[in-house]
Amino acid sequence: MATVCIDGNASMANPIGRERYRRCLIWGCSPPRWREDVTKHPEVNLAVFNKDRLLYKNLKMLPDVPFDYTGFERLDYRTVTIFLKVDDPFTKRLLHELLNDVAFKLLQIEDSEKIERLYSELKEVSNYRLTFMRSISHELKTPLNVIQGNLQLAKLGVYGDVSHLSELLEEIESAVKRATQLINNLLDLSRIETEGFYVKVEPVRFEMFKQIMKEYELLAQQKGLHFDFHFQGEEPFSGDFRIISTILSNLLSNAVKYTGCGEIKGFLQVRGDRIIIEVSDTGSGIPLELQEKIFEPFVSGESGGSGLGLAIVKKFVDLLKGKITFISNVGEGTTFHIEIPRVYRPSHYENKEHVNVLLIEPDESTRRLLRKIVSDYTVVEALTGQEGYLKALEHSPDLVITGLRLPDIGGDELLYRLRGEEALNRSKLVLYVGGKIEKTDTYLMGLEIDIGELASRLKILLGDKLLLVYDDDEKVKIHLEQVKSFIKALLDREIMAKGLEMVDERDFLLYDTFVLLVQGDPEIIATFMRRIRKMFYSNMAIAIVFVLTGGELKWQG
Ligand code: ADP
Repeated sequence: MATVCIDGNASMANPIGRERYRRCLIWGCSPPRWREDVTKHPEVNLAVFNKDRLLYKNLKMLPDVPFDYTGFERLDYRTVTIFLKVDDPFTKRLLHELLNDVAFKLLQIEDSEKIERLYSELKEVSNYRLTFMRSISHELKTPLNVIQGNLQLAKLGVYGDVSHLSELLEEIESAVKRATQLINNLLDLSRIETEGFYVKVEPVRFEMFKQIMKEYELLAQQKGLHFDFHFQGEEPFSGDFRIISTILSNLLSNAVKYTGCGEIKGFLQVRGDRIIIEVSDTGSGIPLELQEKIFEPFVSGESGGSGLGLAIVKKFVDLLKGKITFISNVGEGTTFHIEIPRVYRPSHYENKEHVNVLLIEPDESTRRLLRKIVSDYTVVEALTGQEGYLKALEHSPDLVITGLRLPDIGGDELLYRLRGEEALNRSKLVLYVGGKIEKTDTYLMGLEIDIGELASRLKILLGDKLLLVYDDDEKVKIHLEQVKSFIKALLDREIMAKGLEMVDERDFLLYDTFVLLVQGDPEIIATFMRRIRKMFYSNMAIAIVFVLTGGELKWQG
């Protein structure tokens, strides 16, 4: 914080100026000294204090304590005081404006610092709350699973005849189910709010919802409610089954909970570019004062529910970039309506052109750099995890390179999911990170590594693609690891291995070099060579053949 002290002594050199300045001499500077200072700063005398502490003075002779600044103009900005003496009106105005500006900026900085501090404190508290919520929920899940398991065993008669307890067991089971749903909701909420929830794009069939529908139909029937929910439109559709079924469960559970008589109906419709979900009931309706905050967590009506269900529904709908609306009249009922844009999961087999490299990186300059490194290859780019995931499925690239920090998901988490995709089981996945991550089967490249080294490492991954084809026979297979490490040492290439019977036409397109590991059967080798020749017209692949004789490996070339 700065204060400014100014004395307009432009005329210090003449007697009038000196006279005017005499007042300033009370702090005991000898005239030659101040004259020297004043010559350096002839127009302004200025001092800045924070509380009583001197921060700045433009002349050495100016006093060190605020009390001695009699006859100075005083400007106060919170804890900062500026003493100022200027004679020239133009300079005076200029300085005033400048000081006001500076003070205003300082206040802004102070405010934003305060807000930032408060924000980080809040974040810390919120993270603590979420971590606490998550760990407690996990802890509660285990005993609940034990109770649930034992209940099922009891119902199956493992603990003898318990038919006289059947009503009690049903009641316990439904309480356990309610508790489990509550805990799942808590877990979902904390996951959505912290690390982000990754939306899957998997084929979803209507029959996958059968279990949930059966459950709510039964609950409705137990309350004497008519239940009618149907599925319409195209299936399978692409979506995240767990998210959609959580949305449905929460809406249906509320409908059953808050309806005393009448009916519950709804539908899930997949048509064109959207998925529509609607759930209606003839229940109590949502009171007007509750309606505007119904999607906030822990907001519930008089029933004293947890107030989590609709908060999660809303968060999931937002995550799917959808919209949720409702109409509710007290005493008449409620209808929730959700529209979610449909995403298309590209099928690996109908994929677009095959590309060598998929680059997933939100930062433009990093992407440009990486693009240069792999400029010899065909490249597609993505800016987010979701876009990268879809493009990976679409193109099944030889190599996926992703940064660690993506806007929607961590790069490591994304690779973990891509690894689970069958369409990508031949793709190499590269994660470049600032620091080291302990993931054994992921290629790691530090962001600060030598770019030349990165280029050469990528080229190895992309370069001559080797496939070790082995005869699926125990005598041969024992040598597999040995051959792999031999090739690795010899050529410094990663190598994939595949049983002879499993090799298909795609492999012939994908790999440049085949290493054949077979028993010394010339017929097998010849057949294989014929297949390769048929596939490659000009760019003949080199086949290196290992022939096993008497358990010893021999290189044939
Ligand atoms: P919970 O049901 O556990 O309290 P929700 O977030 O699912 O939590 O719902 C919040 C509140 O909204 C409920 O307490 C209830 O008052 C009201 N509500 C939700 N759905 C309905 C419905 N279908 N009919 C009437 N009231 C509802």
